[in-house]
Amino acid sequence: MSLTVTVWNENVHEQEEPAVAERYPDGIHGAIADFLAEAGHDAQTATLQEPAHGLDAETVAETDVLVWWSHAANHEVDDEVADRVVDAVLDGMGFIPLHSGKNSKPFKRLMGTSCDIKYRHGGETERLWVVDPGHPIADGLDDHFEIPETEMYGEPYMVPEPDRLVFTSWFEGGEVFRSGCCYHRGRGDIFAFRPGHEEYPIFYQDEVQTVIENAVEWAAPNEGASATHGQSEPLEDYE
Ligand code: ZN
Repeated sequence: MSLTVTVWNENVHEQEEPAVAERYPDGIHGAIADFLAEAGHDAQTATLQEPAHGLDAETVAETDVLVWWSHAANHEVDDEVADRVVDAVLDGMGFIPLHSGKNSKPFKRLMGTSCDIKYRHGGETERLWVVDPGHPIADGLDDHFEIPETEMYGEPYMVPEPDRLVFTSWFEGGEVFRSGCCYHRGRGDIFAFRPGHEEYPIFYQDEVQTVIENAVEWAAPNEGASATHGQSEPLEDYE
């Protein structure tokens, strides 16, 4: 299934930190779009710095699945653009916030909670356990995989109870985290995936690419049924 996927990135660390620019010469968005294109999708990119952050009404309307990476500039996203993303998700667009994308305006609005976590920059190992092995997002994985070095995210993660939880992470320092959470909002599917800290080459790792590829297919919009709302005439006469 070939989908129109828009990979959005705030693209800030790549401009400000030479090590990140060296790791991701085409940006984190470029690295993600590359492997999604290789998987057969029509993958385009958009960044904070573009007009309307690259997410004008036309782009959002043609997007089947929006992949989102953000961290330092979550507060710089225009409310109007955030609302456009939320409305599109409620209307069926797939949405995959990665890593600190959990703090993005669209995700927080869709969750209605703080999405707070604890975190630590220690370069520790993360072990992701597949806790829902029949879920399509886990297709092709072993029962667990490891990211050798990363930033830690710890519970309690202040999100609503996920509809399905696909991964639970353990960290060397002892914390655990719900690192792959599925939600359904309106007609849209959302998968929040924890990995992706910019200080490590995480988006080049096979298992991470597999998860994101699977999640894109899982979150793709369905044709679905038409729906009507508001004042409605009865279908039958009744007393
Ligand atoms: Zn991070």
